[in-house]
Amino acid sequence: MSEIDNIAQKLSEISGVPSRDIQQTWARVKQNGAILDGCGRHDFSIDLRPEKVAGKRWKCANCGGEVNSENKYWYELGLEHND
Ligand SMILES: [Zn+2]
Repeated sequence: MSEIDNIAQKLSEISGVPSRDIQQTWARVKQNGAILDGCGRHDFSIDLRPEKVAGKRWKCANCGGEVNSENKYWYELGLEHND
């Protein structure tokens, strides 16, 4: 069993969420991170949850990677300071 399998198994026991679902979520998070890393300049202008005020998700129009509002805020603040 790999370390990831072990961690997923433990999280599954704690949370009651099936280990397979945890591993799939982990794979999606890793894939999203790789997409975001490969982007030259993000444009988080696509609101994935327009009906929500809290718990929003934003999609980059350039790479398709997704972030939450906190990550969007800090990224855009960083851009302002670099321009
Ligand atoms: Zn991007």
